[in-house]
Amino acid sequence: MQNKNAFICIDVGGTYIKSGIVIDGTIKEKHIDKSPCNLDDFISFIHKTYQDYSKNLNIISVGLGIPGIFNHKENIMKYATPSLSYLNEVPIKKELEKILLIPVFITNDANIVTIGEMKFGIGTKLDSAVCLTLGTGIGGGIYYKGKILIGDKGFAGEPGHINVKDNDRICSCGIRKGCIENYFSISSITGDVEKIKGKHYSMLDILHLAKDNDIDIINLLENSAYLLGKAVASILLTLDIETIILAGGLSRFYDFIIQDIRKGISDYAYTADYTEIDILKSSLLEDAGILGAYLLAKTEGKILF
Ligand SMILES: [Zn+2]
Repeated sequence: MQNKNAFICIDVGGTYIKSGIVIDGTIKEKHIDKSPCNLDDFISFIHKTYQDYSKNLNIISVGLGIPGIFNHKENIMKYATPSLSYLNEVPIKKELEKILLIPVFITNDANIVTIGEMKFGIGTKLDSAVCLTLGTGIGGGIYYKGKILIGDKGFAGEPGHINVKDNDRICSCGIRKGCIENYFSISSITGDVEKIKGKHYSMLDILHLAKDNDIDIINLLENSAYLLGKAVASILLTLDIETIILAGGLSRFYDFIIQDIRKGISDYAYTADYTEIDILKSSLLEDAGILGAYLLAKTEGKILF
């Protein structure tokens, strides 16, 4: 790898940060660490990653995905996920470039997963799709004819906050109630299971229970997936994009949720055509973000529209 052109690719999560080195579209090395707890540690982590790799490689630039609403026009993190709130209103691109002295390209974490899936994963034969990242919350990326749509303010693609139930659960986005991520996310599903079963189960435990046909778990997944289908109907009515990709940890539940997602779409979309759309499962899982960050950096951010 000596002196090869390489890109540092980082997928920041609320709990873990995945970092890797990508050369010619291949992940050569990757690491998972606990996400930094404050701004100084966040900047030091990326600086140290750069110092380690730049000893033997010619680092061209850094691609970075951060969960939350990133303002692409001003390159400021508007609202990061709660555990990274120290990034709010920070001009993080400028801060990092000042220290690293190489370009840094940033977008929302769901956008890098979407780019990864479209260019290296399940979407490689498609020119458009909406990717939903089903994890701690629900993120989304709108990929349309080769580019990620970021919108006029740079905030496009926040499907987790589509309302699916009036006056119901309060959302972390503020005083709003009934956003879909309060019904179909790791935190909501583990919380609901705890209420039903009287003890905490991890997502993997819940997956095993579903595979064992636990009726409580199956019912819960079906009801939550129906609401997700309702949210997907809103996306389809707005965008008329024929493929939805389910990514993130909860995409592992694909076989248990697909029918009820379709039922939700069928009950809430305007035309029966939407019930026949393709709903695909991520093929890259954890690597999608790193590979998407690579293309974000390699295209110098031009993959964003
Ligand atoms: Zn919300």
